Amino acid sequence: RQAESDELSALEQRSKDPDAFATATLFSELPLSIRTQEGLKRANFIELTDIQRKAIPLALAGRDILGAAKTGSGKTLAFLVPILELLYRAKWSQFDGLGALVISPTRELAVQIFEVLKKIGRQHLLSAGLIIGGKDLIIEQERVNRMNILVCTPGRLLQHMDQTVGFDCGNLQLLGMYIWPNCRMCIDMREYFGLKMKPALLDEADRILDMGFEKTLNAIIDNLSKQRQTLLFSATQTKSVRDLARLSLKNPEYVAVHEKS
Ligand code: ADP
Ligand code: MG
Repeated sequence: RQAESDELSALEQRSKDPDAFATATLFSELPLSIRTQEGLKRANFIELTDIQRKAIPLALAGRDILGAAKTGSGKTLAFLVPILELLYRAKWSQFDGLGALVISPTRELAVQIFEVLKKIGRQHLLSAGLIIGGKDLIIEQERVNRMNILVCTPGRLLQHMDQTVGFDCGNLQLLGMYIWPNCRMCIDMREYFGLKMKPALLDEADRILDMGFEKTLNAIIDNLSKQRQTLLFSATQTKSVRDLARLSLKNPEYVAVHEKS
């Protein structure tokens, strides 16, 4: 107990200056708990990718993040590591309910994210669930209220918000979102930050999908606590003032990794 609380205060102290990790190359150099370090090592995650080096220290310092880096650059760990770590630091337990939500635009991506979470979170005592539809709703309803971390698709999450008795997001500490490459919200983000980037091309099919996604997302956001920390990642450098306002990002740190030519 004492050892754990010493560890927590040391980690908190070291996290206060995210700039100190600008040249870190290894996960082991970051202010992460032994449990997280162990999970990462066992999953063979040793070296940091660029987006991880930039985003994780800021997220550990409590900042909201808007991250952009191309597919394959390691965005999943850039939000999963802070989620695990910050819940651990908050001494989150089975009695505290839902502490973190990860929203993924597709089922496939949600499954992938959940697999990574299971691997790196194996040393933690937090419970985690995958909510993507296609499974029995009643069985899911019994489990969903016991989860500390949920990885979900927007449609199924909203279904639980509407239909599951006792499902409560009011205590939520962290929201991680993995945004659709052609999502309207992502594209608008670019304008917000005044980035001179070529707009992503949207075809009609994408537009329709995005509109449904956005509507569902807005309904979800309305259910969440405003006190949470938000980690938003996308494959395109983008944004909307309107949508950012909806997500209630607090003075977000914009983290982009540019493709090397
Ligand atoms: P993105 O979300 O940016 O598309 P992913 O998070 O899916 O990228 O990671 C892409 C691939 O790189 C995955 O196979 C993942 O296991 C691997 N990967 C991510 N981070 C690291 C790392 N630090 N060390 C080694 N492999 C990594
Ligand atoms: Mg990926």
